Amino acid sequence: MSPVQTLSCWHCGAEHSAVSMPLSRHEFCRACGEALHTCRQCRFHDLRQGCSESRAEPPTNPESANFCEWFTPRLESTAAMDARGAAADSARARLEALFAPPADDSER
Ligand SMILES: [Zn+2]
Repeated sequence: MSPVQTLSCWHCGAEHSAVSMPLSRHEFCRACGEALHTCRQCRFHDLRQGCSESRAEPPTNPESANFCEWFTPRLESTAAMDARGAAADSARARLEALFAPPADDSER
């Protein structure tokens, strides 16, 4: 396993290659200057529900550098995450349609 990773900035999407892991609190995006050790960069961060790691302290500001011990950097870009979210939504809609009671019984 390599101690360096490539990650995409949560804010601007810029790719940072060869970032040392574990990620430092003092790591900032070289393109937009935002802190990278933030909830928004963390894989436990959920745009709708906030932090999905129940043992973590609720974030005060998800966009500023934190001391969270559960921080795990998310390596994919926000755009990739949005695409995955959209795919999950459509999968959920199909699943709900599958279990929904039939609207019309007359065809049987
Ligand atoms: Zn950035």
